[in-house]
Amino acid sequence: MENKLIGIVQGSTLLITAILLTATIACKKAASDSTTGTTTTTIGTGVPDIYKKIYGATSITTDGTYITIKATSLPDHKSPYYKGTQWAATLYEAYNGTNPLWSQNPNSIAENDVTYKIPLNPTVASTHSATPLGPMGVALNGVPIFNQYAAGGAALTGEVNSFDEYDGHPQQSGMYHYHAEPYYLTTKNGESSLIGFLLDGFPVYGPMENGKTLTNADLDVYHGHTSATADYPNGIYHYHITSAAPYINGNGFYGTAGTVSQ
Ligand SMILES: [Zn+2]
Ligand SMILES: [Zn+2]
Repeated sequence: MENKLIGIVQGSTLLITAILLTATIACKKAASDSTTGTTTTTIGTGVPDIYKKIYGATSITTDGTYITIKATSLPDHKSPYYKGTQWAATLYEAYNGTNPLWSQNPNSIAENDVTYKIPLNPTVASTHSATPLGPMGVALNGVPIFNQYAAGGAALTGEVNSFDEYDGHPQQSGMYHYHAEPYYLTTKNGESSLIGFLLDGFPVYGPMENGKTLTNADLDVYHGHTSATADYPNGIYHYHITSAAPYINGNGFYGTAGTVSQ
């Protein structure tokens, strides 16, 4: 009897230890490293392989209708905007780009948690809604993609000079973002590679296709076209980044947009 009781107590202790251990592992999985900015992504069941390319997300899940992507918005590459932050030791570097008019804005990079809910099966919209200010999509490294406008819908004319060597910058709350080609991703993966997704679920590709650098004239008013891509051999509508404004998106979403929350 006494032995049996000890057995039960030991069993429960083991169970509690196992639960605690699982909880600790789960926490670690979802967290981004506080010094290097590297992230481990938790991927839910049923998530198609293409979305697993979003390596900068903290989690990617699906309910069968939407893909939900959570990210911290922290870039995994160096930036002058990491100056004075908790990540500065490993991620700060002085501006080393080529823009002679470079002018650092007063903001510093901070964690900004964003949840993107995008359609699993994107569809063309009957009415094309305008893209919002703030995140209109997410890049593979978890950095938000913004549209071609500055606050108040103004042109980016002045703001472009505050883009760092990787073509991004933080706004007032420290949310780092790209309005144009994320050079870190296109250097690493190629100029014709997948860059990310807009909120309507349609993918965004770099400026090259079949060995040709595309211009705005090659694209429709939403800044895309339909053709086969390396990831979608059967063809899909997709956006392309170009070197001239509007850079990533034109006159609003091609498809029916999902939602974004912060
Ligand atoms: Zn901006
Ligand atoms: Zn294309």
